[in-house]
Amino acid sequence: MCIFCKIVNKEIPANIELENDDFLAFHDINPIAPIHLLIIPKVHVQNFQEISPELMSKMTTFIQEVAKKMRLDKDGYRLLTNIGENGGQEVMHLHFHLVGGAKLKWVHLSDLNPKEAI
Ligand code: 5GP
Ligand code: ZN
Repeated sequence: MCIFCKIVNKEIPANIELENDDFLAFHDINPIAPIHLLIIPKVHVQNFQEISPELMSKMTTFIQEVAKKMRLDKDGYRLLTNIGENGGQEVMHLHFHLVGGAKLKWVHLSDLNPKEAI
């Protein structure tokens, strides 16, 4: 069983911020910003490429609720998901990183030296 499934099953602890029947939002163990949550479906889905449109639709609503609960909805936040090995995914259970609570640095893609992207 994967590590995030164990968190869903409460076999390993996590600092849970919001939960419903289908999804869980908990704090990343290694935060990169004042607020850094991981949002996952309770069923094991490998990554974004594998999620059904029906479940993703519900997940969208849940993510928006989490952002509201954390009071990030007005000032903004960043939402990202890594997909597979080349995408840098380390835990192979779909998760969205919801990052905020400060003005986040962003190198605009058009400013990035193409050689620095890989
Ligand atoms: P990825 O690189 O797969 O997109 O991100 C995995 C994230 O999961 C990382 O930000 C890492 O800090 C976080 N993480 C890994 N193991 C645990 C854990 O056991 N508990 C929590 N809360 N976060 C974890
Ligand atoms: Zn899993």
